[in-house]
Amino acid sequence: MSDVHKKKRSSSQTMTIMIIAGLILGIIVGSIFNIFIDSTFVQIVDQYIFNVLGQVFLNLIFMMVVPVVFISIVLGVINVGDPKKLGVIGIKTVGFYLMTTAIAITIAMGVANLLNPGEGRGILLESSEVTEYRNAEFGGESDVDNIDVNPQSFDETIISFVPKNFFSAMAETNMIQIITFAIFIGIAIIVLQDKVPSTIKLLQEFEKIVMTIVMAIMKYFAALGAFGLVATAFTHAGFGAIESLGMYFLCVLIALLLHFVLIYGSMVRFFAKKSFLWFIKGFAPAMTVGFSTSSSSAVLPVSLKAAQENLKIRESISSFVQPLGATVNMDGTAIMQGVATVFIAQLSGVDLSITEMVTVVVIATIASIGTAGVPGVGLIMLAMVLTSIGLDPAAIGIIIGIDRLLDMTRTVVNISGDAAVALVINEQETRKSKVTN
Ligand code: ASP
Repeated sequence: MSDVHKKKRSSSQTMTIMIIAGLILGIIVGSIFNIFIDSTFVQIVDQYIFNVLGQVFLNLIFMMVVPVVFISIVLGVINVGDPKKLGVIGIKTVGFYLMTTAIAITIAMGVANLLNPGEGRGILLESSEVTEYRNAEFGGESDVDNIDVNPQSFDETIISFVPKNFFSAMAETNMIQIITFAIFIGIAIIVLQDKVPSTIKLLQEFEKIVMTIVMAIMKYFAALGAFGLVATAFTHAGFGAIESLGMYFLCVLIALLLHFVLIYGSMVRFFAKKSFLWFIKGFAPAMTVGFSTSSSSAVLPVSLKAAQENLKIRESISSFVQPLGATVNMDGTAIMQGVATVFIAQLSGVDLSITEMVTVVVIATIASIGTAGVPGVGLIMLAMVLTSIGLDPAAIGIIIGIDRLLDMTRTVVNISGDAAVALVINEQETRKSKVTN
C-alpha cells in the first residue's frame, strides 16, 4: 500500500473515531442535561451551544447535497456510457430496494407479534399526547374514515418524478427530480461526447471542488456537529421517555439489528462475496453521520464518499444507486412502521388479519417511494399505513416523544441498505464485465 493511501486511510479512521467520540459524549452529556431540563442553565447551553453546533453542521452538509448528487449522477451516467445498461441497473436497483423493504417490515411485524409490546397497555390511548396529536395534525377529527392522511396518490407520485422546473427541484432538494434531470443531462453528454469535451472536464473539476469542501466539513466540523446534534436530542428526549415505552423501543431495535445483520450481512457475504465487517468498517463514517443527523438525504455526500473510497464501489454505480435509495429505500423506517402498527393494533385490542398485515407491507413499501429522507418523515408515512387498515393515526402521539432517538438508529439502517445494494450491484457488474472481456 502506498504512503499516500495509508495516510488517507488513517486520517479517515481518525475522523470516524472522533465522530464516534462526539456521539458518545453527546449521549452522556445530553442524558445528564435531560435530568435538569427545567434549569435555565441547561436550556441556554442547549439552545446556544448544542443546537447551534448541530444545526450549523447539518446546514453545512445539506448545502453540499444538491451539487454532489447532481454532479456525481451526471458523471456516473457518462461513465456507464450506455443508456440501456443504465436502465438495467435502474430496474435491478429498484427491485432490490422494494424486496429488502418488504422483508424489513415483515421482520418487524414478526418481532412485534412475538414480543407483544402493546398487550394490556390500552390505557396509553387515553393519554393527553394522543389528543394533542389529533388536534395538531387532524383538526381534532376522531373518525378514522374522515381522516385524510394521503398527501399524494400513486399517479401523482409517478408524475412528480419529472421536474417542471429544475431550479425549484434543486431549491426543494427534491432528490428524484434532480436524479431525473441529471440522467437527461448525462445521456445528452453521452450522445454528444466528442462535441462537449470541455463540459465533461468542467464537471470533473467541479466534482473535485465539491468533494474537497465535503472533506473539509467532515474533517473540521463533523465531530463537533455530531456532538451538538446528539446532545440536544438526548437533552430533550432522555432515557426517561424510553422507560415507559421500553418494549416498543426494544422491538424496533431488535428488528433493526436483525435486518442489518441477517439481510445486509447475507447480501454483502453471499451476493457481493465480501466480509461484512469490512463493509461496516468502510461505511462507518457515513453511519456515524447518519446517526447524528437522522437524515439519509443530508448524509449523501458522506455516504457516496465512503462507498466509493472505502468500499471501492464504482462512481457510476454508487452515484446512481445511493441517491435513489435516499428516497426510495428506507428499510429502517419500514421497520419502525411495522413495529408501530402492531403496537398500536395491540393497544387498540385489534388482532391484525393476514390480509391486513400484507396491506401494511404493501402500503409501507409504496409509501417510502418518493418520500425525502429527512428527520421524522417516517411518522408521516406511518399515519398513511395506520389509516389503510382502519387504525387511529392519532395514536402516533404516544410514540412521538421517543421517535427522535429511534430515528437516529433507523437512518443508519436506511443508508446501510442503500450502500449494501450498491455494493452488490457493483460486484455483479464487475463480474459481468470480466465474463464479457
Ligand atoms: N430520518 C429517516 C431518514 O432520513 C426517515 C425517517 O424514518 O423518518 O432516512
